[in-house]
Amino acid sequence: MQKYYKIFMSITLISILLLVYVYYKDSYFRNNPLGQDTINEIKQKEKELKYLVYKNYGLKVNIPIIIDDKIHANLYGYATYKNDNIRIVLNKKRFQETKNYMISYVLPHEYAHAMMFVFGDRTHENGGHTKKWQDICIALNGIKCNRFVQRDDILMEKVRF
Ligand SMILES: [Zn+2]
Repeated sequence: MQKYYKIFMSITLISILLLVYVYYKDSYFRNNPLGQDTINEIKQKEKELKYLVYKNYGLKVNIPIIIDDKIHANLYGYATYKNDNIRIVLNKKRFQETKNYMISYVLPHEYAHAMMFVFGDRTHENGGHTKKWQDICIALNGIKCNRFVQRDDILMEKVRF
């Protein structure tokens, strides 16, 4: 009997410690900016995107990439065009579990939307996923460049004006 009690107590204790750890890790992430590694990876990707824009379109662009922790958790990111300012906003909450997806899939996808604004094309057709947008997305080495996304697709973004 004593033996089972010890095993039971051990499991309970381990579970509690695990919960505390997960909670701590979560709140640590929430209350802190993105790690330097992640920031460097975003910067590296941005450099590549700027180079590809220059190579394909002969344009030198500098589109701010904002990391926002106030946007809805379902939204990965979006491109905006407001008062002549073009920006890309990425959801900070999404970097925790899906960092590579954010950098390799979402960022080039949104960059292509931002480039549509640069070209003065603000069509709402198909959520901005026009053939022209697709061509830009592919030219930017995008992976998520399909024009007709599936329901429940991981890309829950919107184009905002
Ligand atoms: Zn899109």
